[in-house]
Amino acid sequence: MKGEKEEVVLRGLPISKGIGIGFPVFLSSFDEKISESCISKKHVEQEILRYREALEKSRQDIENSQKNSLQDGSSEIAAILGGHLEMIQDPFLTSLIEEKIRVRQQKIETVFFHLIEECKQRFHVLQDIYFQERVRDVVDVSRRILNHLSPKKHLRISEISHNSVLIAQELVPSETIEASVSIVSAFVTLVGGITSHAAIIARAKGIPFVADIDIKLLKDADLKSLIVDGSQGIVIINPTHQTLKKYAELKRGLMEKQKLLKSSTHLKGETIDGYEIRVFANLENPDVIESIGESGASGVGLFRSEYLFLSMRKFPTEEEQFEIYKKMAISLRGRPLVVRVFDVGGDKRLDLFPHEKDSRYFTALGMEANPALGCRSIRFLLRYPELLTAQLRALLRASYYGEIQILIPMISDITEMRQVQNLLGQLRAEFDQAGVNMAKQIPLGCMIEVPSAALICDLLVKEVDFISIGTNDLEQFVLAADRNNPHIAGLYSGIHPSLLRLIRMIVASANAAHKPVLLCGECVADPTLIPVLMGLGIREFSVALNHIPLVKHTIRKWRILEACRLAEGALEYASASELKEYLVNAGAEKLKI
Ligand code: PEP
Ligand code: MG
Repeated sequence: MKGEKEEVVLRGLPISKGIGIGFPVFLSSFDEKISESCISKKHVEQEILRYREALEKSRQDIENSQKNSLQDGSSEIAAILGGHLEMIQDPFLTSLIEEKIRVRQQKIETVFFHLIEECKQRFHVLQDIYFQERVRDVVDVSRRILNHLSPKKHLRISEISHNSVLIAQELVPSETIEASVSIVSAFVTLVGGITSHAAIIARAKGIPFVADIDIKLLKDADLKSLIVDGSQGIVIINPTHQTLKKYAELKRGLMEKQKLLKSSTHLKGETIDGYEIRVFANLENPDVIESIGESGASGVGLFRSEYLFLSMRKFPTEEEQFEIYKKMAISLRGRPLVVRVFDVGGDKRLDLFPHEKDSRYFTALGMEANPALGCRSIRFLLRYPELLTAQLRALLRASYYGEIQILIPMISDITEMRQVQNLLGQLRAEFDQAGVNMAKQIPLGCMIEVPSAALICDLLVKEVDFISIGTNDLEQFVLAADRNNPHIAGLYSGIHPSLLRLIRMIVASANAAHKPVLLCGECVADPTLIPVLMGLGIREFSVALNHIPLVKHTIRKWRILEACRLAEGALEYASASELKEYLVNAGAEKLKI
């Protein structure tokens, strides 16, 4: 490709939407360049001192970045940095590194070089995306410390010029955290997944990102400028004048649309013919609760409480949970807060960074061959009722401060629901006797995300206060397609017609029993699917905060009768791709912003 100047289009994985136009800047990972280097015994203590100084500087770095993130309102980023801070202050890890310097008599750079190599090895063995991310965090923290030991070797994002498209083998969170949208036009990497922390941060900052691009091709090319289309997953090398003009216009249009959408997020979620559709928020990080008011959400439709476990790396105590739920409930000022009990297991595995206190849970379970189908979620909580008891007690106590509702995930049989009801009743009675303040009514609902629950929904719904359809899991189980496996991503894009039939059935059961039904899967963020879901009878959606403006905007473009006709037509399809084509064509006019 050397010497060529013609336009070349590369296709990769779309990670963060938007269009970036700029000049290429290659970020090298300096851990690749470190070689073996030993020290004499008398220099060991001096080396340890060097390590401690670098550690302290890194700690100050992270604390500063964390403060800045909180001031900018980027609480997701602050939470990731909090994890890094914990890692850096962990006395066990520090003494482990010091021990290695002493025993191996190696320079600290060499010790870290080996640690990063070990992590990379483990990374390739790990199938689990969440695990892979945690290994990436260890690499990230190690690189930060190394940067303080030999600061000149590494080009820092903060040092690059405006309009840069950053190209790297892989990005770690500390690199994306340093980037600002006014300087970095886009990211392009070889390695990277949609759920990676670097991806979450890029999306939070609105920086376009395309992964799965052969960056060697870019390195060998005579690059002048680049266009990155994060929505289509396209990278255009040396674009022609015409292409540049086209994408500059597209970018301007996108920015105007975003402004327009945000300005109307406070309007009611209402169809043209006056049907109210309530839009709630899906939350993982309790600190984000303060943003609910300005987001236009009617409340929290799904709080994935297991992220408390994932971020604290242990099961939070009843007291810790009580304080969190209470704060969230108060902050919502009367709006509902649906707390899903710990949906751990499956891809949210328990044996990562094990806390001594919790280790017995995963050692007793051992490695499962099919964790997605294993002892996870409510199955796990019923096996270890002390965990469910602590969580239910915390929720009962916090219910006094707001509109808490309790949601049970992965229900596959009615007896599971009954066991939870019995336990909740018993705890309520104990609290009543002890004079503990609680809300008079605490709705208890179940998620419909396992096909068996969908099929017995008419019976299940009679015994619960509300239901919540989790299409992410329901789709993976109905299609027998792992939602985290990139090799079958085609099967898992959009929605399969079989899901529409199940949703119709679930809504009919809920309506017959006069029970509310909410839908909280990722498909809610797709404007081509919103009308068909409304047409099937869904009147409550829950979606990630940043999608709320688009969801409301879409709702306000449709009449219920049109949506019902669209749904009727959609039920005639037996192929996901044909269904998608039908929905895109039918809704084309209304998709315009
Ligand atoms: C779902 O399965 O659709 C859901 C909302 O829950 P999660 O994505 O956390 O599994
Ligand atoms: Mg689920």
